[in-house]
Amino acid sequence: MYRTHTCGELRITDKGRKVTLAGWVQKSRKLGGMTFIDLRDRYGITQLVVEADAPQELVDTATSLGREFVIQVEGEVVERQSKNPKMDTGDIEIKVDAIRILNKSVTPPFTIEDESDGGEDIRAKYRYLDLRRNPLKNALTLRHRIAHEVRNYLDDKCFLEIETPYLIKSTPEGARDFVVPSRMNPGQFYALPQSPQTFKQLLMVAGYDRYFQIVRCFRDEDLRADRQPEFTQIDCEMSFVEQEDVLNTFEGMMRTLFHNVLGVEIPNPLPRMSWYDAMDHYGSDKPDVRFGMTIHEITETAKGKGFGVLDGAAYIGAIAVPSAADYTRKQIDELTEWVKRPQVGAKGLIYIKVNTDGTFKSSIDKFYAPEDLAKIAAVTEAKSGDLILVLSGDNKRKVQNMLGVLRIEMGNRLGLRDPKVFAPLWIVDFPLLEWDDETQRFYAMHHPFTAPKPEHEKWFYSNAKEDLERVCANAYDFVLNGTELGGGSIRIHNADMQKRMFEVLGIGPEEAEYKFGFIINAFKFGAPPHGGLAFGFDRVCALFGGQDTIRDYIAFPKNNQGRDVMIDSPSEIDQVQLDELQIDVRKNG
Ligand code: ASP
Repeated sequence: MYRTHTCGELRITDKGRKVTLAGWVQKSRKLGGMTFIDLRDRYGITQLVVEADAPQELVDTATSLGREFVIQVEGEVVERQSKNPKMDTGDIEIKVDAIRILNKSVTPPFTIEDESDGGEDIRAKYRYLDLRRNPLKNALTLRHRIAHEVRNYLDDKCFLEIETPYLIKSTPEGARDFVVPSRMNPGQFYALPQSPQTFKQLLMVAGYDRYFQIVRCFRDEDLRADRQPEFTQIDCEMSFVEQEDVLNTFEGMMRTLFHNVLGVEIPNPLPRMSWYDAMDHYGSDKPDVRFGMTIHEITETAKGKGFGVLDGAAYIGAIAVPSAADYTRKQIDELTEWVKRPQVGAKGLIYIKVNTDGTFKSSIDKFYAPEDLAKIAAVTEAKSGDLILVLSGDNKRKVQNMLGVLRIEMGNRLGLRDPKVFAPLWIVDFPLLEWDDETQRFYAMHHPFTAPKPEHEKWFYSNAKEDLERVCANAYDFVLNGTELGGGSIRIHNADMQKRMFEVLGIGPEEAEYKFGFIINAFKFGAPPHGGLAFGFDRVCALFGGQDTIRDYIAFPKNNQGRDVMIDSPSEIDQVQLDELQIDVRKNG
């Protein structure tokens, strides 16, 4: 037997017990002839002591141990002279009788401590060593715990976990597909799923009315911060449901997770906000509602005073930043430069200080009398001492979006975004379609399998652009603290409506048949009404862990270039493989 106990287990009540432990040497030190060793495994650290009067061979072995050696020790649990209340095992130590070196280790390239001295790159290269550190161990343990709770909850509600294939057909869902060449079918390719969307719908047709899967998905996107080319979803689908049933089931799941994993109670029922309200008041479809500072439209109030920039704008909006009227000239200049950065894209920033003495000071004093500014202050609900920030432009949604970004920035600066406060909500009533000026066509806002709201079907079958723009879907996103954690919709389950959807999206009948014939066909065989959603599992884990990056919650993630630097992938493949696949690689692009 390699061990009788783990390194996190022994307590003062075990005093006198003969034990065998195995683990890694965290560190060792000599003190007055005695050797102290911290022995670590997944469960914790236990202090070992080799007495000065122990047999010489044992003392020699103890002093020869380097960091990360794997050893097995036998000894007796004794009470410590100087206890360490910070450690679970801090009341005891093991008086060692025998040490067996199970394996040596070369010196690790960084310290295996909570605060390691290793930079990100070196830790990524030696991920298996990084994973020995507590922060990562805790992250993966939390991930396991959440997955376990999800399975329990869904099992309780009669969901079946069913696996769907990874080698599928390319049916892009907004991002690029990763493709896999087929050796047996030269010139043909599988695609890795961006999500199991069509398969879960086919499971509904097959009668498996409650499905879920904790499943890997693949999207070949240019990697924005905190995206991974492969990531995990909690993917779910239900039959014979309306939006209400889906929302209730899954806010129940999130409520259970919050309660069981974090001991946090979230509101019951969860707040809901329409997509239109979210855009108008938060400038985002994933609003952070932990704080106010909402966007107010002041187009009518602010126009007509002879100030060209505002008079010529199609939309003028503002936020009132609490207690920021004392911002200095320098701070305002810096903020103005900040909103002009390409990531925000504003042309300039107008400010109005609502001074505590009742006066106003603004960058537009020349055109606006105090009464005019007072009117704007009233519309924006600014209080005495607030700083009103105004943006304008010719596209309402664009300006709202910029104000949304500015609002989040001010929320950060004022410390209003505490990661320990959780403010989840549903965003509902999304538009079904999104017009793209560049390509002059509609795109599905969620995906092409989302159904129009029954009461909007009349517009869905109209060919007028304004009608199609008005169509809403029973689509919903679960949003937490400014992050979209999940989303889904009630689906189309009728072959003719699905065909109409492809037509609206400019996908011709042949292309629709080639790419999606299987699902249109399946809908002819008694498809039940159905709907579902998927949660971004990695992100749920990160937010539960109070972090904003998902990388630590994935055992072996890719870096920002989509590379796994540990195994050095992607990499070239040898000519034999290429020949078998009948693939010629173009050299030099
Ligand atoms: N398949 C969708 C996605 O990955 C989720 C859903 O509609 O269920 O976003």
